[in-house]
Amino acid sequence: MRVTVFGTGYVGLVQGTILAEVGHQVVCMDVDAEKIEALKQGIIPIYEPGLESLVKENTATGRLSFTTDAALAVAHGDIQFIAVGTPPDEDGSADLQYVLKVAETIAEHMEAHRILVDKSTVPVGTADRVRARVAEVLERRGRTELTFDVVSNPEFLKEGSAVADCQKPDRIIIGTADEHSVEVMRELYAPFGRQHEKIIVMDVKSAELTKYAANCMLATKISFMNEMANLAERLGADIEAVRQGIGSDPRIGYHFIYPGVGYGGSCFPKDVQALIHTADSIGFDSKVLKAVEARNAEQKTTLFAKICEHFGGELAGKTLALWGLSFKPNTDDMREAPSRVLMEALWAAGARVQAFDPEAMEETQRLYGDRDELALCGTKEAALKGADALVIVTEWQSFRAPDFDLIYKQLSQPTVFDGRNMYEPARMAKKGFTYYSVGRLPAT
Ligand code: NAD
Repeated sequence: MRVTVFGTGYVGLVQGTILAEVGHQVVCMDVDAEKIEALKQGIIPIYEPGLESLVKENTATGRLSFTTDAALAVAHGDIQFIAVGTPPDEDGSADLQYVLKVAETIAEHMEAHRILVDKSTVPVGTADRVRARVAEVLERRGRTELTFDVVSNPEFLKEGSAVADCQKPDRIIIGTADEHSVEVMRELYAPFGRQHEKIIVMDVKSAELTKYAANCMLATKISFMNEMANLAERLGADIEAVRQGIGSDPRIGYHFIYPGVGYGGSCFPKDVQALIHTADSIGFDSKVLKAVEARNAEQKTTLFAKICEHFGGELAGKTLALWGLSFKPNTDDMREAPSRVLMEALWAAGARVQAFDPEAMEETQRLYGDRDELALCGTKEAALKGADALVIVTEWQSFRAPDFDLIYKQLSQPTVFDGRNMYEPARMAKKGFTYYSVGRLPAT
């Protein structure tokens, strides 16, 4: 099948590549000429395990190609994916300018029936707005005979495992009332073997809300566990025991119940905000979501509060080694990362940061490269040198079993602030560390 994908970010690039991999002819279009030029040369702008080789292989076979030419892109695909960003506007609502711009572009150039498939995360009612925008342009062009449909097909991939998630999706949501579109979408996803059994067809608005509901539910689990961890800390209970205790109930389950330093990334924060905004706009007070957001904002400050208290409020002149900058492991994405809140608070208090991340160094350099209070270190060990304490913000696999003797020797005070509960408090105490966790019982 002939498919066009607008937007070559995490979603568009991965989905486009996976569709090419199963045999579809895919053209990926982006307005970012530099990105397209790089992709043509096999340079992948993001870190995503497994993606680079797939892009190269499929480009070589000719099934996957990249362009900035909108006319060519619209002419190519019977199916036109919209996978552009929907960042938060100042008021927290989803900014739909990029989505509507793509709708306009498609309408400007289409010469035959087109199915516009919205993969971006968009508020309920967006498909209607896309439809209206396309109709407007067709009217202006005097081409009202051209037919089209707008399908909601939200994306559930996770950064860090985006390729695997797209290859084996838990479900494929198709939101449309048009039978022809449903048939086309079923055919498109049929090569994913048994995955077609996972296709769930529904009305457009329900599909749009499903994506928000999923992300908001996950954000709720995180904020809930963070609240329990904060409580455990104050009550003298161990959140790790509590986690195991509640996770064993199949109605609760073990997934996504790890406390930490708050959720970040390009999706949870903005999607929770956007749904709150949607609710507000219709006069509905979404009490749960507001609490989820407030807890998260506060959670991002907890590591700093612990560090501050440990050093008696005197952070000026202190140096902190920081392990983990990306908002979660296996990505270089720093959007809304808890590390940023922490670093900015440390700098404001006069501290220096020596940071290491396995993938997000370039992105950190881009964001904060001009700051004297930040040293970006080539290895996690180099970040320790001369630091007063170690702070762990992201639970990268390579931080799980470090050389504790080396950490002990390198730090001026053997103190570890662990924002991800990576180590056993008792073991850390035995090794002579002062160890701060999130809601775990300190070793006695
Ligand atoms: P991104 O910011 O990584 O990429 C968006 C791309 O769209 C950019 O390359 C940009 O240049 C391009 N673009 C902007 N306007 C364009 C236009 N008019 N024509 C063509 N390209 C254009 O975004 P992303 O992370 O891939 O997210 C895209 C959407 O998918 C968002 O709505 C997001 O909420 C949603 N989503 C993201 C994830 C994720 O993990 N990143 C997961 C599920 C859903």
